[in-house]
Amino acid sequence: MKVGIDLGTTYSAVARYDKNTSKPVIIPNAFGKEITPSVICFLDDGDILVGEDAKDMQSNGTGVNAAAFKRNMGDGSIAVSFNGKDYTSEDLSAMLLKHLIEDAEKATGEKIDEAVITVPAYFNDFQRTATIRAGEACGVKVSKIINEPTAAAISYGYKHAADKTVMVYDLGGGTFDVTIVRITKGNIEVIGTEGNHILGGKDWDAAIVKYVCDQFIDEYDVDPRDDLPTKNELIVAAEGYKKTLSIAESVTIPLNYDGYSAKYTLTRDEFESMTEHLLSATKDVCNSLIDSLQITWTDIDEILLVGGSTRMPSVSRFLRDLTGREVIAHSDTDLAVAKGAAITAELYCSNATGLRAMQVSDVTAHSLGVLSVAQDGRKYVNEIMIKRNSKVPTTTRRQFTIKKGNVTDKIEVYTLQGESRVPLDCNVLAKVVISGFFNRGQGVIIDIEYNYDENGVVNITAFQDGEPLNVEAQPVPDDIRWMGGDPHDKPSDEAILKNIAICVDLSRSMEMGNGDVLPIDAAKQSIRDFVNTLQDKDTYFSLIGFGDKIKVVQELTNDGYAILNSIDELKVKMVGRGTDASPLDMARSIVSSKPGVGIIVVLTDGIWGKKDNAVEQARGCRDDNITIIAVGFGEADTSFLRQIATVDDGALFTTIDRLGETFGTIATAISSGNMGLREGAAPGGRTQVSSRD
Ligand code: ADP
Ligand code: MG
Repeated sequence: MKVGIDLGTTYSAVARYDKNTSKPVIIPNAFGKEITPSVICFLDDGDILVGEDAKDMQSNGTGVNAAAFKRNMGDGSIAVSFNGKDYTSEDLSAMLLKHLIEDAEKATGEKIDEAVITVPAYFNDFQRTATIRAGEACGVKVSKIINEPTAAAISYGYKHAADKTVMVYDLGGGTFDVTIVRITKGNIEVIGTEGNHILGGKDWDAAIVKYVCDQFIDEYDVDPRDDLPTKNELIVAAEGYKKTLSIAESVTIPLNYDGYSAKYTLTRDEFESMTEHLLSATKDVCNSLIDSLQITWTDIDEILLVGGSTRMPSVSRFLRDLTGREVIAHSDTDLAVAKGAAITAELYCSNATGLRAMQVSDVTAHSLGVLSVAQDGRKYVNEIMIKRNSKVPTTTRRQFTIKKGNVTDKIEVYTLQGESRVPLDCNVLAKVVISGFFNRGQGVIIDIEYNYDENGVVNITAFQDGEPLNVEAQPVPDDIRWMGGDPHDKPSDEAILKNIAICVDLSRSMEMGNGDVLPIDAAKQSIRDFVNTLQDKDTYFSLIGFGDKIKVVQELTNDGYAILNSIDELKVKMVGRGTDASPLDMARSIVSSKPGVGIIVVLTDGIWGKKDNAVEQARGCRDDNITIIAVGFGEADTSFLRQIATVDDGALFTTIDRLGETFGTIATAISSGNMGLREGAAPGGRTQVSSRD
């Protein structure tokens, strides 16, 4: 049997094409439900739950939960570690797919051997190939990868034969995607696509959580979110209240925490006004797509709503006001993607009948370029070969010249995906080494061919005088900062992974001050800038708050969004009163939990109790080759800061006004490799060595 699978961020669905009725049908899961939560739960007893069962666990805080892992698809990062085993998003997706497939096989009594899997249109090459691998890891042939909005349009265009231009507005649980397609006589041509992959229904859920917690704090001075199980329960419950508000005018939300009980009423009007900015963020994406295609709203005939979040009545109203176009909502808005995939599965099957006539063409969401040296020879640039929104499949050729006198027998080619001319603003997709050509130093011309196949996956081939050459894919080096520098100083060193723990003093004094800005706000802003400056895939941050107690606000992550969110959460009340503790031991265990150099940045405005303890812990860090940088202002004790800093100039004394500047200095020192980050700073075996030739 062939199926279509919508592998969603928050919910997934499986469909097949029913030849008897000539219609795609959803295959229900073991619970009889049409959609399955994209959640996996690892239980302490070793059991692993997937889907519905896992989502239930999510709210009562048992085991380790993985949700929304699709957001990290293809980036190779560890999404969950459990029982000594690491799982990437690709592994988790494979587990979810396996579950979906098994359920569907049980429901139909047939074996599934082939699947079309959908991905967001903006997914890049890494993310697409990771999705294919995840499918193949569970033993099915992935006959095609198809863009979600395209799938939705297929399920729609298939029903409606009239010629028109349609904007597919897909607001899911964690992502937003907008795509413009042209439908002619049942044929579908995608003409452009754009997305924001950190915007979705979960942001509406979060608004409800914030709404009730803010009131709870006002009344009782405690934040229910400080308790993780309570927080998780609230997030899951908020989704339910949100769905209720799609049909009811108001909901009553009970909240019990820390011995206090409260009840809050939220009306749909209030809910809509506190989430207005989220809809408006989708508007920016739509407008940007319209602009980039050089069309206007009047060129759009209809707007097709896709994704569970478009069930909120505010969405169609908002779109009607924005565009003046007809907005079409289907009752199966969160099933259309799976159904379109099921139709595609059939379309690509050799003995398809009737459906064959329908042609579907898609575009690429990202430009494809090659790393080149700029004309002045002073910097690298991204030379775009295939423009975004080009129809796929597509192929382009580029001539590469080896100058007379150069007798090299290899060429290294880096492929970039992205719109910017600045290489480091793009994704470095692949490194290939081309060899096998004749070069006697007389000057050589080599043709390199780039191809986007119909899955949106990139292929590279090379030729000399029409004869194919060896093209060997090699891992992209972890450290590619040289692409931002002068081509003359391209180094051949390895990437240095950095684990940075930021420890922020959250004692009461951080909320007091006589200037315009509270210390805590100045600190948050400086840390935000600091993170923004240093953030890249090789830099992991953790955030620790300390006062009388210690709280790990964010575990190590290289997800900029997660860390910035956790900075927003920082507040003085979040660490409770209790016995005195120094954050250094905690920070030390966090930064040593991963390979790479460890850096601890401590920000404090006061005098610490049990200084000796802290100095002792600092010594432990020094023994582990961890760099401690101590920033003090206000009442902070300079000589103490010098004692805990582990490098020369590692104690910085500043003022609230200049805190940003100070953090800027630290960021520069860290990124330039000063401040204890010199080679060899990491203890043996802890620096990650990239697999270089
Ligand atoms: P994804 O493709 O991102 O996995 P879906 O398209 O299935 O997600 O949409 C899931 C999102 O839709 C969730 O945030 C869910 O809360 C939201 N949703 C589903 N039904 C409703 C509803 N009736 N009202 C509001 N939001 C809804
Ligand atoms: Mg979806």
